[in-house]
Amino acid sequence: MADSKHPRNEHPSTAVLTRGFDPRLSVWSARPAVFRTSTYVFPTPEAAERAFDITSGREQLQPGENSYLIYSRFNHPNAEILEDQMVPIEENAEWALVFNSGMAAIMTALLSVLKPGDSIVYTMPLYGGTMNMMHQLMEPLGIHTRAVAAGHSEELDEAILGTPNLRAVLIETPANPTMRMTDIRRATLTAARLDPKPVVMVDNTFLGPVFQHPLTLGADLVIYSATKYLGGFSDLLAGMVLGRDAELRKGMFGHRGMFGNILQPDECWILDGRLPTVSLRMNRQSKNAQRIAESLVHRAEIRKVYYPTLFDEPEQIRIRLSQCDYPGAMMSIDLRGGKPAAFEFLRHLRVARNAVSLGGMETLVCHPKTTTHSASPPEEMELAEITDGLIRISVGVEDWRDLLRDFEHALDTIRPKLEEAGVLSAETSAR
Ligand SMILES: *Cc1c(COP(=O)(O)O)cnc(C)c1O
Repeated sequence: MADSKHPRNEHPSTAVLTRGFDPRLSVWSARPAVFRTSTYVFPTPEAAERAFDITSGREQLQPGENSYLIYSRFNHPNAEILEDQMVPIEENAEWALVFNSGMAAIMTALLSVLKPGDSIVYTMPLYGGTMNMMHQLMEPLGIHTRAVAAGHSEELDEAILGTPNLRAVLIETPANPTMRMTDIRRATLTAARLDPKPVVMVDNTFLGPVFQHPLTLGADLVIYSATKYLGGFSDLLAGMVLGRDAELRKGMFGHRGMFGNILQPDECWILDGRLPTVSLRMNRQSKNAQRIAESLVHRAEIRKVYYPTLFDEPEQIRIRLSQCDYPGAMMSIDLRGGKPAAFEFLRHLRVARNAVSLGGMETLVCHPKTTTHSASPPEEMELAEITDGLIRISVGVEDWRDLLRDFEHALDTIRPKLEEAGVLSAETSAR
């Protein structure tokens, strides 16, 4: 559906509105039609034969040739429109593929690259669902998995260079929920020393596509849970993979058709209307989060605020400055007083809501140890610094002053209990 009259050198915020959708193909409507059909009619049997040859990859489209669509499990106009609009938003991307969830995107990326006997190296912690996929899907299939703690560049180099049959490296940065960062450029340079080079994939859900650009740092694939910032309104599930290499796209396109996990037309239509505002939303959310994080850092009830502008390790600061444009809207706070304090804090919030997920307009707050990360074994929990007092916050677009007041009020309510328990002296809490 790409309209070739638009030049490719437009800036992303323009291109997202000019590419992908050609009104001539939808009776000149300003917004795309939703093509709610499972199958497509062929004008001639020859067109059907040609469409199958091209979709299966047996033959290539000739310049100027339009292929006929076949069946919506392989491809449909709303997916194509959405994919064409997403490409300019992700720096250096050549193609995009949409999936019906972030997990579907990750599974398809992994299974189109890995086969039994191969190995994958990944950073720890990963999103809980991805972690389960490693242990409960990849390992039983005979794929060797090796974890490296996020932010340990030398160990990651050693794992990449020292793991036999390495075919994939999966990096999630910043890591959930403590925002620990991994150096993408260094990992891609190390991977490039191997022949064959393993496919480097980055789960860019937390900072991308606005604040972090893995394809410019040498990564092969960028993966999103589009359920989060791309969707932006906590009202749909979707996933996306972007890359540059045509062979990788071909493998994933084939697997998506096989698995049947392409995003449905209605969801594609909703999501493509959200893309033009992703940068506006993420910038506002990041500004809100930075103001709140930097205001809370002085509170005596909090042992530590995890937020990129508040990193204290020099290596973490270096990675942040080298690969992130802005700090983003995810933060965590570790409360003194453990789980009782954390639960009390959650109970007293009035603006922020106690829910998992992230990236929506509304601020969401959760207790990782008993929710998102409750399936992790204790060693993984410790490695990921998930303590009893840890609270994860996805900052929304509310007025930051109301959010700060909400958090300060909830902290005020736990202070007397902390003083009573001797965790805080009256003096420190008066700061
Ligand atoms: C939510 C999330 C996923 C999974 O995405 P779904 O859309 O829920 O399937 C994967 N990775 C990260 C970092 C996430 O936050």
